Amino acid sequence: MSLSQFFTLKQARISNNCPECYSNDSLELTIKQKLIETQFYKSITNEIVSEICCLNCDVQIFPIRWTDDIEQVVNYHKRGLNKKPMSLKLKPMSWGIITFLIVIITAVILISTGIIAI
Ligand SMILES: [Zn+2]
Repeated sequence: MSLSQFFTLKQARISNNCPECYSNDSLELTIKQKLIETQFYKSITNEIVSEICCLNCDVQIFPIRWTDDIEQVVNYHKRGLNKKPMSLKLKPMSWGIITFLIVIITAVILISTGIIAI
């Protein structure tokens, strides 16, 4: 079971017109980075998503509705981003399994090479 989460890298008001209500001071851009968490590990991915919400008409503006101007502003904000580097952190359960496997493999090697007799 894995759980995808996003954490916010940047949130900014942009001055483009809302494609829905044409208000020009209500669009809020949120740029998020994806994080995957499972029972075994937690990993920061390179995947970035951008969302735009209109605070006036209270709808999410999906990329298909973005105008060229909006896209330009989004790209501009993406360039100045401080992305977190990709990373992978193993959880204690993974370390437990890895340690267990190392012990088993070591035992098998020692027994099969005759270093330990059973
Ligand atoms: Zn709107």
